[in-house]
Amino acid sequence: MSLKIPGLHHVTAISGPPQANVDFYIATLLQRLVKKTVNFDDPGTYHLYYGNQQAEPGTILTFFPFDDAGPGRAGPGMASAFAYAVPQGGLNTWMMALAEADVPFDGPTERFSEQMITLTDPDGLRVELIETTRGTGLAANGDTPVDDGLHSVTLWLKQPDRTARLLTDLFGYSSTDETSEGGGTRHRFLAEGQGRGSAIDLLTSDAPSIGRQGAGTIHHVAFRARDDEEHKAWQEVLRSQGFDVTPQIDRQYFDAIYFREPGGVLFEIATDPPGFGIDEPIEALGQELKLPEQHEPLRERIERVLPPITLPKGRGR
Ligand code: ZN
Repeated sequence: MSLKIPGLHHVTAISGPPQANVDFYIATLLQRLVKKTVNFDDPGTYHLYYGNQQAEPGTILTFFPFDDAGPGRAGPGMASAFAYAVPQGGLNTWMMALAEADVPFDGPTERFSEQMITLTDPDGLRVELIETTRGTGLAANGDTPVDDGLHSVTLWLKQPDRTARLLTDLFGYSSTDETSEGGGTRHRFLAEGQGRGSAIDLLTSDAPSIGRQGAGTIHHVAFRARDDEEHKAWQEVLRSQGFDVTPQIDRQYFDAIYFREPGGVLFEIATDPPGFGIDEPIEALGQELKLPEQHEPLRERIERVLPPITLPKGRGR
């Protein structure tokens, strides 16, 4: 088989207290909370998953919220921003709605011939909304304009060459465009098929800056494997290329392998199946605290230490 990455599966970031996080992503960005669970490696803290209505791979953004997380800062060797796709004609609707809700944003500006605006989430994470014809081709819809899911992730790198080769030679991405930005260079790569979440930008800058992992920073970037067979094949390929890749880890909603790409960013490859409907019906996603089997005996204690979250209503619903 020809092994190629079809695009992003999810992006995982760190946030401060969870209430501000759910308020922003649900009420302001109209995402759906598709899973409320705990950090499997630290079950006293939440792991919150947002996505589109069907919780499809390529629409998923996840957070580890910590009440006492110190502020982080993006720097070289980190993913510095992610973008949601907005369907053609939808950006105007967004700008009007955000202005009406007194949510500040920068733009519109243009990047690689696409119109975009930039917001900052409550912890300072850069969130871009980019109008595109790539992706799922959903029509603009005032209610769910970001149902299209992820558009791209920006990786801030000192030396992009080896990361670029990983994308093109192993993942099957094509180098499609390049532009100067802030004294450096932004280089666009697209996954084969150019579907949902297919863009990765490598941003190189000489600006002296040291990143710090903390609230408002991206922890890792996850790519899709369509099934278990592809997942195993990726593990073998990466190992044979000298990457220090983890064993397959069961994350309940997908299987995961992790490795650090040459520029320093933590990459994951996650399987599409079984998906977020495995432990609750799609129409009820995100309403109850779900625990994996190994943590279920601790439910009472876990529920006592987790701060309560009130789910806001999405704007205009
Ligand atoms: Zn992940």
